[in-house]
Amino acid sequence: MFVDTHCHPYFKHFDADRDELIKRAFDSGVEKMIVVGCDIETNRKALELADKYDFMFPALGIHPTECDDLTDEEIAFIRANASRFVAIGETGLDYHHNKFSKEIQEETFRKQIRLANEFDLPCIVHSRNAAEDTLRILLDEKAKKVVFHCYSYDYEFAKKVWTAGYYTSFSGVVTYDNAKEVQEAAAKGPLDLFLVETDCPFLPPASIRGKRNDMSYVKEVAEKIAELRKMDLTLLASTLAVNSFSLFKIG
Ligand SMILES: [Zn+2]
Repeated sequence: MFVDTHCHPYFKHFDADRDELIKRAFDSGVEKMIVVGCDIETNRKALELADKYDFMFPALGIHPTECDDLTDEEIAFIRANASRFVAIGETGLDYHHNKFSKEIQEETFRKQIRLANEFDLPCIVHSRNAAEDTLRILLDEKAKKVVFHCYSYDYEFAKKVWTAGYYTSFSGVVTYDNAKEVQEAAAKGPLDLFLVETDCPFLPPASIRGKRNDMSYVKEVAEKIAELRKMDLTLLASTLAVNSFSLFKIG
């Protein structure tokens, strides 16, 4: 069985066939899915989907490209609903899009790490062109449970992430031929700090590149990691599932 630890099935890309697709992913062995919010609107949609499907678990947070959505009202909403979701996120830093200044991104990120600490929840972290700052802020805030979602940095940086006890979650990126650095991290890292995800509808794995991604393709990500590590897929999948269960308390 597989766990997709990061998906966005509420997006409009799935409006025509959402329920069918969710059912198909579940039937194909993706038995649990973490639905991750990015802003005020999608935080509510993540909760709605989780109310509808008992195998979907929501994460609530404000993406670094949506910093102005972390209003006092939204923080109050997140606090009031803390018993209904399994992680804070996605949050983090995005110095590629740079929609908000570094200072605003840092402040928004810190507030969410504090929320995660307050409720003893994992933090699902988006980090783009911001590796060192992301880790510095997490350590400074004494974040305990952290996932570097869609891990896209190199093996050297990953070692620092793992040393801190934080998880790396691999996405379709690991299946790309040009993603040698990510593949090295996936081949050499400690399995007990590994997760897999699709980040769908984005980041389709190699077999469907350019097309819409969905939760069922988490299997292809796991297959690639098994191939890189020359290990049995079933054994890998069960380790990844156990990691997901214990981190998100969804077992
Ligand atoms: Zn995402």
